[in-house]
Amino acid sequence: MRRYDVLHSRPRSVSLEMTAPVHYTASLREAPVEGDPDTKNSAVSEAYFGYSASGDVTAEVVYAHSGNPEDYELLRKSGISVKGKIVLVRYSNPYSYRGFKALTAEREGAAALLIYSDPAEDGYARGKVFPDGPWGPESHIQRGAITYDYIVPGDPTTPGWASVPGARHIKPEEARSLPKISALPLSWRDAKPLLENMNGAAAPKDWQGALPITYRLTGAVTAHLKVAMDASLQPYTVVEARIRGSEVPDEWVLLGNHRDAWVFGGVDPSSGTSSMMEVTRALGELKQRGTRPRRTVIVCSWDGEEYALTGSTEWGEQFADDLKKKLVAYLNVDESVAGAATTAGAEGLSFSPSAVASLAPMLLEASKDVRAPSGKSLYEAWRATNKRDTKASAPPLDGGLVETRIGSGSDHTVFLNHLGRPVVNLGFSGDYGVYHSMYDDHNWMEHVGDPAFEYHVTLTRIWGLVALRLANADVLPYDFGFNAAALDDFLTELELKNKIDAHKLKLKKLHERIAEFEKAGNELREAVEHGLASGENSGEKMQRLNEQLLQVESNWLEPAGIPGRPWFQHLLYAARYTYAHLEFPGLTEAVEKGDWKVASEQNNLIERALEKNIALLRTAKVSWEKSN
Ligand SMILES: [Zn+2]
Repeated sequence: MRRYDVLHSRPRSVSLEMTAPVHYTASLREAPVEGDPDTKNSAVSEAYFGYSASGDVTAEVVYAHSGNPEDYELLRKSGISVKGKIVLVRYSNPYSYRGFKALTAEREGAAALLIYSDPAEDGYARGKVFPDGPWGPESHIQRGAITYDYIVPGDPTTPGWASVPGARHIKPEEARSLPKISALPLSWRDAKPLLENMNGAAAPKDWQGALPITYRLTGAVTAHLKVAMDASLQPYTVVEARIRGSEVPDEWVLLGNHRDAWVFGGVDPSSGTSSMMEVTRALGELKQRGTRPRRTVIVCSWDGEEYALTGSTEWGEQFADDLKKKLVAYLNVDESVAGAATTAGAEGLSFSPSAVASLAPMLLEASKDVRAPSGKSLYEAWRATNKRDTKASAPPLDGGLVETRIGSGSDHTVFLNHLGRPVVNLGFSGDYGVYHSMYDDHNWMEHVGDPAFEYHVTLTRIWGLVALRLANADVLPYDFGFNAAALDDFLTELELKNKIDAHKLKLKKLHERIAEFEKAGNELREAVEHGLASGENSGEKMQRLNEQLLQVESNWLEPAGIPGRPWFQHLLYAARYTYAHLEFPGLTEAVEKGDWKVASEQNNLIERALEKNIALLRTAKVSWEKSN
C-alpha cells in the first residue's frame, strides 16, 4: 500500500435556485428507481464538481451551448457578454472535457458555470432510459472533477513530484491546475426551468437540444448559486501487487485500473476492477503452480483517478527513475464494459482499444487468440464492429484497426506523457448514458450492460494474454516500422489540416527521417524474425536487443517538455485541453498558433530524436546479426 497525502476537494454544501422570473430550487439529486435499491441509498450526496472553487453568486443566466471558445465567439457577435454572469452549458456537443469548459468560462470572465446533460446527447433522444435501457433518465447527473489536469495532472499542490507523506506542497492559489470558478453539474430536470424561462433571442439551430422548448441565449433568468468546498490534505492509497520475474526481474509489465468512483461506478471503474481482480487471481494461481512470468508483473489499483488521475500520477512520479528504465508497457483498463450488450445488435459491443503505434501489431495478433461473445475470434468481432461503426463497406485493413491516437482522461497519462513509456488501453464500448451518475451501478450492468458478464470475461482474457505475452516474449514485440508509418500519417494530417506554407516551415526533412526510421524498423524486425526462426540465440544476445528496444521508446522524451506544459515530455504524444488526442504536440500547437519559430524548434527536436533512434535501430540490427 502506497500512501499519498493529496489536496482533496469535497463539498460542505451546494445549492442552486432560480430567483427570477419565477422561483425554483434545483434538487441536485437523482430520483430513486423502482427495483434498484441502491438508488435509494441515503449516503448518496448532492452532485458537485471536484475542485470547483467556493463561491456565492447571484447573476443573470446565459446559455452558451457547449461552452467551447467558438460558442462564446457567437455570443459576442450577438452582443452578449458573459462577464459576471452564470453560464449554462451542456455536455458533449462536440465532446470536450468539463475541465476545459470550466477554464474557458473562467477566461471569458463568467462568475459561475453550470453544466447539464441534454437528452440529445445521453438521454431519451438516444433511446430507452434506465431502468428500461442504457440512457440517462430525467434526473441523471454527470458528476466529475473540473481540474485543469491537461496542464499538469495529479495533486495540484505537488506538480511534478510525489505527494508522499511529508512532501512539500505549493499553496493552492499557486496551483496551475486548480479552477478559480465555481461550478455545478445539473440534470436536465434541473436545467429545464432555467432554459424555458429565458425570453431573449432564440439560439441558433445547432444549439437547440432535445427538450421540447425553444433554447434561447439569454433573458429574464437570474439564479443564485452557492458552493462551499472543503479543500484539505487527505490520504489516497495505491494498492500494488508484484510477481518478481523469473529471468528478467528488472523489466516490468504494469497493469492498472482505478478504484474510486463518482457514486457506485458499475461501469466506471468497477467493470474494469472486476477484470483486474480476475487477471490478478489467475496470475497468482499460475505462480502457485510454479509458473512465474519471465519479466516482473506489477498490478496497481489506483486511487483518486476521478479527481486528477492522481494515484497513478503520484505513483509514477515517485518511481519515475525506475519506470523510465524498466517499464516495458503499461496496460490500462478504466472500464471493461462501457456499453449495453442488450442494445448492441447482432455484432455486439465494440472492442475499442488504443495503443501506441509500436505496440499495435502485438495487440492485433493477441486478439486472434481470444474468443469474443459472438463466438468469433476477438479479431474478427473487432473488424465487424469497426465496419459497422464507421459505416464502411468493408472492414479496415489491420493497420487501421487499432486506434493509435491517444488522448488523456485515464491513468495511462503519466506513463506515456511524463515518463515516455508505451501504453495500451483496453475496453468495450456502446450505448451508455449514465456515465458518472448514480445510475451507473450494478443494476445497470446486470440488466442493461452485460447481463451474461461475457464481455467482462473477454476483456479479462485479452488483458491477461497481452500481459503474459509482453512478460514472456524472448524479444519485446515493439514494431517500429509500423510505428513510423503511423507517424507519417500524423504528420500528413497536420499538414493537410493547417495548409502549411513551405516558406514558413519545411517538413520535408522530417518526412525523410520518418521514412528512414520506418526502413530501419522494418529491417530490424525482419532480421530478428529470421534470427528467431533459426533458433540459435543466446539469452545474452536477446537481452542486449531488448535493452536497445526499450531505449528507442525513451528517446521520444524531451526533458524540457512541450512549450507551456513542462510536465508533458513526450515528443509524439500529448492531449489537448479537451482531453482529445494530440500528436507531435509541441509542433502541432506551435503550427496552430502560427508561431513558426517555435514550430521550427519543435521540428528540430523531433528530427534529433528520430536520428538517434535510426542510429540505434541500425546498431541493434548489426549487433543482432553478428552475435549468437
Ligand atoms: Zn474511470
